[in-house]
Amino acid sequence: MAENLMDKIVSLCKRRGFIFQGSEIYGGLANTWDYGPYGVELKNNIKRAWWKANVQERNDILGMDCAILMHPGVWEASGHVENFFDEVMECNKCKKRFKVEQVQQKYPSITTGGGVGKWKCLECDGELGLPRKFNLMFKSSKGSLEDTSSLVYLRPETAQGMFVNFLNILDTKHPKLPFGLAQIGKAFRNEITTGNFTFRTCEFEQMEIEYFVRPQDADKKLAEWIEARFNWYLDLGIKSQNLRKRQHGKDELAHYAHACTDIEYNFPFGTSTSLECHGESSRTVGWAELEGIANRSDFDLKQHAQYSGKDLQYFDDLKKEKFYPYIIEPSGGVDRAVLAFLIDAYHEEKVKEETRVVLKLNKDLAPTKVAILPLLRNRPEIAELAKKISQDLKKSFTAIYDDTGSIGKLYRRQDEVGTFYCVTVDVQTLEDKQVTVRDRDTMLQERIGIDRVKDYLVEKLI
Ligand SMILES: [Zn+2]
Repeated sequence: MAENLMDKIVSLCKRRGFIFQGSEIYGGLANTWDYGPYGVELKNNIKRAWWKANVQERNDILGMDCAILMHPGVWEASGHVENFFDEVMECNKCKKRFKVEQVQQKYPSITTGGGVGKWKCLECDGELGLPRKFNLMFKSSKGSLEDTSSLVYLRPETAQGMFVNFLNILDTKHPKLPFGLAQIGKAFRNEITTGNFTFRTCEFEQMEIEYFVRPQDADKKLAEWIEARFNWYLDLGIKSQNLRKRQHGKDELAHYAHACTDIEYNFPFGTSTSLECHGESSRTVGWAELEGIANRSDFDLKQHAQYSGKDLQYFDDLKKEKFYPYIIEPSGGVDRAVLAFLIDAYHEEKVKEETRVVLKLNKDLAPTKVAILPLLRNRPEIAELAKKISQDLKKSFTAIYDDTGSIGKLYRRQDEVGTFYCVTVDVQTLEDKQVTVRDRDTMLQERIGIDRVKDYLVEKLI
């Protein structure tokens, strides 16, 4: 049943233009995905809702947009060069690589540094070589001449861009503790095991906040952020039975973290292992990380102070003292949020012996707010009027005009992509200047004047 739901989501995403396989006409590039017309609207709406809640509506958080390429010293200071790796074993026959813990699931007695030839490949009859360290950062080179170019990494997290701008922010905005920086952007990790549709990919987008606090306030602020972020998903419509918090055990904390709690969603697929916060853990089927909220302590600022030679301490005017703030980091995945909202909104019901599929997305997230449909498309004056209404509404909402089918077919299509309202123009409209407005969830219809449509939608949607 659950696996079946996942198949339905993947199929809907392709059929209606939410998410396509990357480079599909070339046979695809494994685990890359492209967002189509509805997918990009949904994704943008999720990012906008996050930005609104965390930057626009708060007085203590400033937005940023940092470069993907950073000085290589950043990744030495951050610990990524030294610590950000998987231990993998390569098959001598099919050359596939497997994480040690994948192999351990089949051969529990394996220890790293064991002998060659003791473990069969998980996918063919070849043998696995010794475990080797494999850094998860994507390498590239900067500079036009091969031999003079320098090694650069595509950032594996957006966080570091905010840490290295700490001084710039203090000098330009003079914020007082506690305050935060927020950023949405792409990050890259050379994952060995990817999969479950868009859940784990090598290229992904993060929504991250770095919230600087006095060390003695860290525990309290961590608890506040866990609540705030948990409620954000609920407020946007995720069902409470599908969302939970999970505190990390000491053994799965990242090298920099004092504490970390994940917000998990009950996905309709199995998640046997997880890489989050660089820790590994076996999971019950389904529950997997949407977002992690960590207390990163003063690790990052101290490291960057040491490696850059700059003083990155905060100066307290009142107490006349300098210290390194602690950092609370709520870090969420945009692509995972898109997937969770899609799955949670998927709804099937029987209407007159037929199955109606509806994406019951929250009004702020629905890719299209209103569709304008002519009842008789072969009557030019009806189509013209519908197009004109659509054009007027486009100034205020994501609105579309669609005349490519019978009205039943058009409604079904809009329900499947989560369009909040359908406005139908018919013969009667030409006489009484009224249209039919249909509600996506209740399917109830109301007849209102054309001149009232915009106000009606503003009242319901904003
Ligand atoms: Zn093999």
